[in-house]
Amino acid sequence: MLKKYRYDGSEKFHSKKTSTKETSLCKDRKKAEKKMAENNAEIDLLQQKLYAEKKEGLIVLFQAMDAAGKDGTITHVLQCLSPHGVYEAAFKVPSATELAHDYLWRIHEKVPAKGEIAIFNRSQYEDVLIGKVKELYKGQAHSDRIDLDKVIDYRYEDIRYFEEYLYRNNIRTIKIFLNVSKKEQAKRFLSRIEEPEKNWKFSASDVEEREYWDAYQDAFEDAINHTATKHSPWYVVPADHKWYMRYVVSEIILDTLKDMDPKYPVVTEERMAQFHSLKEQLQEESK
Ligand code: ATP
Ligand code: MG
Repeated sequence: MLKKYRYDGSEKFHSKKTSTKETSLCKDRKKAEKKMAENNAEIDLLQQKLYAEKKEGLIVLFQAMDAAGKDGTITHVLQCLSPHGVYEAAFKVPSATELAHDYLWRIHEKVPAKGEIAIFNRSQYEDVLIGKVKELYKGQAHSDRIDLDKVIDYRYEDIRYFEEYLYRNNIRTIKIFLNVSKKEQAKRFLSRIEEPEKNWKFSASDVEEREYWDAYQDAFEDAINHTATKHSPWYVVPADHKWYMRYVVSEIILDTLKDMDPKYPVVTEERMAQFHSLKEQLQEESK
């Protein structure tokens, strides 16, 4: 079912050929909301098992153009999970301390422990998205050591290795690109200007970034095609309809957790015997 949105390296992602507004998995909004509520209940249960078992951790990483609905989707995902062992990590413009380190340093710090789920709001991919479009690496890399023409290719490689390294250490990474159209983004910016309660979200620089729209789309296409693997797939989710986007995200997370297949730890016979004697003792004491 999710195959059409999943990129695992076997087929290329073509940004221009990909619809941002189709709703093929569920055309009806009410039905999608109902299915999402069912999915959320299942996700909640599986997360409890994941937390109890402590065998595998999960990173669900979100990338998107501004106003695609990233923050709202993340809030929604977090609402259906229990707070134990679940957190959001947001990656903003790097601080001076972060820039003084290698670019994966701040990412690694937020990698979840086994049993935990981390929701990444932006990620290591910023360094091959805005980093590529604005050529930020020119001020970051030591050009005497590294050929600047190769920086971005090296980063794709670094990220592939990093995610595979985490996978081998029981931490999975799935990557979600919320794919909104330029026209829909314009509409959402307009509502940020027109509706007072959305004013706080509006910044003029976000509109200026629209000039680079095509360069960003190319950067997303390249990043996805260079880093989509079986173990760490990308999902490209149509984002022009928010209700549909959220529904598909719930399907993706559920599908991933089902594949991880967490189970409550089995109680050993020894512990069972211990339970039994403690039970007798407690029964006695509760009389
Ligand atoms: P968001 O836009 O994610 O909803 P926000 O508007 O609250 O969050 P911003 O201050 O806009 O927060 O922070 C996000 C900005 O940080 C984005 O413009 C993003 O491109 C930038 N950013 C994140 N990581 C990096 C990085 N590694 N290098 C350069 N810029 C980065
Ligand atoms: Mg912003």
